[in-house]
Amino acid sequence: MKAISLRAKLTLWYSALFAVTVIAFAFAAQALRSRALLNQFDNELRDELQWAEILLTTIKVEALLTDGEVKASLVTRIRDDIAQHFMLNRSTHLLEIRARSGQLIYRSVSPDDTLSQLFDAEALFADPTTVTYGKDDFRVLQKQTPKYLINLAVSLRPLYDIQWQLARTFLWLVPLAMAVAVGGGWLLAKYSMRPVTRVIQAVRQITATNLSQRLPTYAAQDEIGALVETVNDLIARIEQGVGRLEQFSQNVAHELRTPLTILRGEMELALSGNAGAPELRRIIASAMEEISRAAKIVESLLFLAHVDAGKMETKKERVALDLLAAEVFEDAQALAEGRPLHLTLTAPEQVVVAGDASRLRRLLLNLVENAIKYTPEGKVEIAVQRADAQAIITVSDTGIGIAPEHLEHIFERFYRIDPDRSRETGGSGLGLSICAAIAHAHGGEIHVVSAVGKGSTFEVKLPLAESRKEV
Ligand code: ADP
Repeated sequence: MKAISLRAKLTLWYSALFAVTVIAFAFAAQALRSRALLNQFDNELRDELQWAEILLTTIKVEALLTDGEVKASLVTRIRDDIAQHFMLNRSTHLLEIRARSGQLIYRSVSPDDTLSQLFDAEALFADPTTVTYGKDDFRVLQKQTPKYLINLAVSLRPLYDIQWQLARTFLWLVPLAMAVAVGGGWLLAKYSMRPVTRVIQAVRQITATNLSQRLPTYAAQDEIGALVETVNDLIARIEQGVGRLEQFSQNVAHELRTPLTILRGEMELALSGNAGAPELRRIIASAMEEISRAAKIVESLLFLAHVDAGKMETKKERVALDLLAAEVFEDAQALAEGRPLHLTLTAPEQVVVAGDASRLRRLLLNLVENAIKYTPEGKVEIAVQRADAQAIITVSDTGIGIAPEHLEHIFERFYRIDPDRSRETGGSGLGLSICAAIAHAHGGEIHVVSAVGKGSTFEVKLPLAESRKEV
């Protein structure tokens, strides 16, 4: 089934609501008009009744009858009076006056008219009431006094005629209004959907290869304007992301190409058949070095990919950073052996954080390895302490330092200040980005302060583990 367009949906909803409103309006108008007409009829009936009463008070009803017979002269007078003053529409109104004895004094229609039996019903309608007689409806009002009975009736046909006329008007007016509404709604929906259609077309033009394109700016500050802005922001973020990804892939390829090229060269040399056993041994040792360099890069990348995918689950074991620092300090001493470096460790108190011991160890070791790497001679200090309810790890050195323009970049992936020198020392530019990822995963942060020729201080702040659980 073809999906129904938003434009069609809008038109449908709009038309349905309009139809309900118009039809409700038609019914309400009909009902109000009918009630007003009926009131008018009732008022006429009451006026006529009043008039008939006044007429009858001027004539003594008893005088109408002599020996039970209606006096013809008085009847004639009544007739004349009625003819003179009573604006009775004989085709629709009916007036009948009877003596209390039941004898007919006056009737506005001829005796053989079927309507003459309209008032024969037993009931007395002291208030205007609708009565069906034959095929027609009448509004009937009666008044009985000890002396006479006045019967009044008015046909409801004119009311029904007006109702029908109104209904007929609505019968063509409602469909016409509906047609205008549906057509207008359709055009309106088309007009308001046009910018959306344009946005869709523009977005379709944008592919992975032309992410630098943006949707044409939309002047109005409405929902479409907001949509265009949001889509443009989204494209900008995708462009940045794709750009980073491309750069990252290039870096990865570049990083892995170097050890592979060296490996191939060495393997070719080994295969040439001229190398003796000591030479072969040297080649294999060098190849091993390159393999472990490549493996380290791959492992680091895998770690960062995990972080990016949000899959790095941080364990929440209790880690005593002072003890961890002591372990790393031992490794550092081994690393710095034979070099003019003075290593110190300051960890005067127990500092416990909640986290993953092996990752925190890696963080600390990366910093210490860097400090040793970039300090030809001088001091490297590791310190662990508590301050402001935080654990603070500091690794400072008196090494070559980092120039201010590099400082903000050194936590970026593959960023190396001096790639050749870094390569010599086995660096791939991933170490500090891994440190930052581990610190962030533990709810902490990492900062650096450095001056060229004077040395660098890396500071990691981590939240302390809750003290009551301390070991
Ligand atoms: P690498 O593996 O190349 O050391 P890192 O991400 O660990 O990569 O560091 C990025 C860059 O920051 C290094 O190339 C180096 O130039 C600089 N750097 C890191 N630590 C220090 C330090 N303690 N002293 C001077 N420069 C440093």
